Amino acid sequence: MTGKNTSILLIYTGGTIGMVNHPETGALQPVDFKAISNQVPELKRFGYALHAIAFDPPLDSSNVNPEVWLKIAEIIKKNYSLYDGFVVLHGTDTMAFSASALSFILENLSKPVIFTGSQLPIGTLRTDGKENLISAIEIAAAKIDGKALIPEVCIYFENALFRGNRTTKYNAEHFNAFTSENYPPLAETGVYIKYNTAAIMKPDGRKKLSVQMKLDPRIVILKLFPGINRSVVEAVLNIPGTKAVVLETFGSGNAPSDKWFTSCIKAAVKRGLLVLNITQCHGGSVEMEKYETGMELMKAGVVSGYDMTTEAAIAKLMYLFGKAYSLAEVKKHLKRSLRGEITL
Ligand code: ASP
Repeated sequence: MTGKNTSILLIYTGGTIGMVNHPETGALQPVDFKAISNQVPELKRFGYALHAIAFDPPLDSSNVNPEVWLKIAEIIKKNYSLYDGFVVLHGTDTMAFSASALSFILENLSKPVIFTGSQLPIGTLRTDGKENLISAIEIAAAKIDGKALIPEVCIYFENALFRGNRTTKYNAEHFNAFTSENYPPLAETGVYIKYNTAAIMKPDGRKKLSVQMKLDPRIVILKLFPGINRSVVEAVLNIPGTKAVVLETFGSGNAPSDKWFTSCIKAAVKRGLLVLNITQCHGGSVEMEKYETGMELMKAGVVSGYDMTTEAAIAKLMYLFGKAYSLAEVKKHLKRSLRGEITL
């Protein structure tokens, strides 16, 4: 139930939802927030106090980086006590990265932070943006016994609300652009909004929001493919200053068993590089002990990323190294579910 006194802050960062075609080239480019709200007069029909903060200029989400995540975090921090919930309008391309990052940055979150956007600009006739925006606001405002129903960072898209750090963009043209293969939706919308209360996080209401304003971006991804050669692997593992490598492996965490490959990984681990095993599959988990090819990685000192998405892995590593933890502490936290990002 929501009261008349509900207040929601919209944070418009950019994305297709607020884009128009360039008059000459026809390419999509962002416009300001006023142009968006003019397209959705329905916003006025909510009984809530609805305010907006817009990035200037708005960003295509391909230009989003850790600084932008911290900027969003800063806005939420400053306005945390003033609003019941937050809706972040964001491009879909990197939305899963941003939602993952914010889930870690915002420690002890007890209010909703709902990311949404659209595949078609809000000014187009068949836009998916209106429904996404309106439902995201309604979800951000939802309460039970005076407390937020969704005290998490989520992505709302098409007809589902997903935990942000479980989500991946998997389709560039379907309205149903996101998937969360390893965790059920927190809500599904149709005629009714059906909340999956058992799947929603229960925050410790006594703890205050704390915002981790330092991230360490010295992380790389090494995606395996049949035929990957030694010079590529060596080049990536030897990038100076790198703290961790997300090793995107096959199936349940497997990699070629060539001796050169294993010894490259072993040497990197010995030098102090953290190698985190994340499967290339959208669903399922890393189980290095299942096959001999995975076992070799485990013996080489590779750490399991369990069923974490690549997006969440990148964000979690930047967050943990941002805290200036020792390697042993980072490894300890990787084995824990900090924000529901892994199934243990
Ligand atoms: N390129 C756009 C962005 O991510 C795509 C979108 O919003 O759907 O900003």
